Amino acid sequence: MILKTIEDVGYESKRVFLRVDFNIPVENGEIGDDSRIKGALPTIEYLLKSGASLIIASHLGRPKGKPAPEMSLKIVREKLSSLLGGKEVKFVPDCIGEEVRKAAQNLKAGEILLLENLRFHNEEEEGDEKFARQLASLADCYVNDAFGTCHRKHASIYGITKLFDSIAAGYLIQREVSALSKLLEKPEKPFLMILGGAKVADKIGMVKNLLDKIDTLITGGVMAYTFVQAKNWEIGASKVEHDAVPLAKEIIKEVNKRHLEFHTPLDHIIADRISPDAHYFATERGTVPHNWIGVDIGPQAIEEYTDCIKRAKTIFWNGPMGIYEIEAFARGTIELARAIGEAKVFSVIGGGDSIAAVNKAGVSDKISHICTGGGASLEFLEKGTLPGIEVLKK
Ligand code: ADP
Ligand code: MG
Repeated sequence: MILKTIEDVGYESKRVFLRVDFNIPVENGEIGDDSRIKGALPTIEYLLKSGASLIIASHLGRPKGKPAPEMSLKIVREKLSSLLGGKEVKFVPDCIGEEVRKAAQNLKAGEILLLENLRFHNEEEEGDEKFARQLASLADCYVNDAFGTCHRKHASIYGITKLFDSIAAGYLIQREVSALSKLLEKPEKPFLMILGGAKVADKIGMVKNLLDKIDTLITGGVMAYTFVQAKNWEIGASKVEHDAVPLAKEIIKEVNKRHLEFHTPLDHIIADRISPDAHYFATERGTVPHNWIGVDIGPQAIEEYTDCIKRAKTIFWNGPMGIYEIEAFARGTIELARAIGEAKVFSVIGGGDSIAAVNKAGVSDKISHICTGGGASLEFLEKGTLPGIEVLKK
């Protein structure tokens, strides 16, 4: 796939609308993992060096179309500034309107303006044309480096690209596309896919179409409990996405038909509630007892999954194995991350929380490629492209 890239364009004295993915995890009012901000730095630095001024836009969380202080991008302002060696980052409390227009107009070459959360307006997710036009009116050129959102036809990703003569992909998107393409073009076998995390309904639909490409599938987190539920096994009070159960049943059928190796956790860490001071213990081999919540894969599951990792030549992983934010429930995720770090494999790990977990395990430099998008990486593997990437093709 050949994309229009920022190296193909001259940016001297141009105002650039730069769409990034600063959808970082925020824990107790602080930035949890800053990988996504760091991921955009090469593009930001290149554009500044080329003489551009930057209008940087992103979403954060799911504020559902209205301002929510806890999802303000203001939190990113200082972090970005310090990552750029103390450079000033201007900020406006909206992404459209008169104040924003003025601030954009007053930008000089080499200056940065960070806009407020795009998703404070419903029109962003609706892909509204008028909203896209308001965003586009702020700048001369468009650059997209928000790989994690390219599977969405949102206004700032998709519609907006028709409103500029000059559009290009940043370095992050270029890197992501080339690593994920490698997984699609003759991956070395066996190909192991590890799926966990919580956003099951968003992701499970894609899994069915990926079965052709993989040899082994192992599951953890809410994803696993959705499959366990589909097998009609007891899951206690574990979190599942009930709407996804019918699809999980179909996937199990397909997996059996193809004789793929498929695992749900053999045993579990169970807790009486989701809290650092919960009572918790590892179950025997089997199901989750009544009223208990599965919060991590158990030690036997870790052993079995580690063995799958050792046998694999190619690995794609999205979604933690447990509630890794809580120390006592992080072991499954951390141990798998370490095992992947030690294995001689081509490994791609994608997703905001998955990256945070790999960083926590301290093995991020041993992973072949860390992909900033979770849902986006899965959809790219399924379809070989994404709506937001298609529009950047040469
Ligand atoms: P990613 O960001 O890597 O794409 P997700 O956002 O889908 O992954 O899932 C990450 C979230 O899943 C984490 O916040 C984690 O606490 C949660 N999670 C993992 N296992 C469980 C579980 N058993 N029960 C509830 N939540 C879980
Ligand atoms: Mg997440």
